Amino acid sequence: MTFAGIVVAAGTGSRAGGAKQWRQLGGKPIVRWSVEALLQAGAAPVVVVIPSGAQDQLAEALSGLSGWAAVSGGETRALSVQAGLAALTGPADQIVLIHDAARPMLTGPVIDRLLNALTDADGAIPALPVPDTLKRGHGGAITDTVDRAELWRAQTPQAFRADRLARAWANWPGDEAPTDDAAVVERDGGRVALVQGDARLMKLTFPEDFAMAEALIAQTTPRMQTRVGTGFDVHRWGPGTSVWLCGVEIAHDQTLIGHSDADAGLHALTDAILGALGDGDIGDHFPPTDPKWKGAASDQFLIHAVERVAARGGRVVHVDVTLICEQPKVKPHRLAMRERLAAILNLPLDAVSVKATTTEALGFTGRGEGLAAQAAATVELPA
Ligand code: MG
Repeated sequence: MTFAGIVVAAGTGSRAGGAKQWRQLGGKPIVRWSVEALLQAGAAPVVVVIPSGAQDQLAEALSGLSGWAAVSGGETRALSVQAGLAALTGPADQIVLIHDAARPMLTGPVIDRLLNALTDADGAIPALPVPDTLKRGHGGAITDTVDRAELWRAQTPQAFRADRLARAWANWPGDEAPTDDAAVVERDGGRVALVQGDARLMKLTFPEDFAMAEALIAQTTPRMQTRVGTGFDVHRWGPGTSVWLCGVEIAHDQTLIGHSDADAGLHALTDAILGALGDGDIGDHFPPTDPKWKGAASDQFLIHAVERVAARGGRVVHVDVTLICEQPKVKPHRLAMRERLAAILNLPLDAVSVKATTTEALGFTGRGEGLAAQAAATVELPA
């Protein structure tokens, strides 16, 4: 079923001391949790409503994700939701899930229940029963015990057909501010279904809520261990007009000789990653005796190593390559090398290092007989 998502993250943090949508939770910004969950469930697009001027902050929080758009919110939550609805471009009767970024722990089953409930309702919300006895009080004393048999705690996301919600908004009295979207459809005579909510969808409001959410996430995310692998490679110089180093071709009066393209930087780095996995070396995975790898571009070796990491449920988090040679000069090409490695590894540029050194004219690199490369890779793997 196709649907769009609106994530309301327009708060400026007047209540909780700083805007909480940007705060880190379980290693990523709070707003990212909801956007990821909606995208993963198939929402297209996900419109994120943010404070005006926060576009860069959002782009950083959602880096690497696609399928979202940003829109500036209004003074109130209601105006922010309407800004999000106005930014939708799909069919008028498309399904839209409106979600508060302050409830980061959104799960697929909740989304499925909402979508299913919409087949015979004008709206659907996740809700939980009230487990505590409810008292009404005044002046420090109880005045009444409230019957909680028919009371529910409303959560988000709340699901509607966009045109039904727009019609309800058109009829909403302008001088009132609804505390959720379902209230608007209810007031317009619509039927809003209750589906089973999720305790993890708790709204992060008070400082202790963040601590509880961190504890929950720590419990449900696999414990990762950090491993470091190292690699080393040498190729000798021979006649040629260019050399491949760290995935970049550099014009040079010699080339490195090898079975593949002889990119010693990529070979050392591939071995570093395989080393972190305890998964043999590049020769085990790509035997030099196999004619298939003759003249091969070495980026495929690195891609293979990264895929081995992903297959184990891990990820490469940082790499550091050192090229050891007198010639060519590496510095003019260093940024291009880092960018190429960052693209292959899907890492931010500041997690990719390429360095170069000479050996003061000593040894085989100093005499210009060959080039050496060494590398370290930091890998996170499920413990
Ligand atoms: Mg090699």
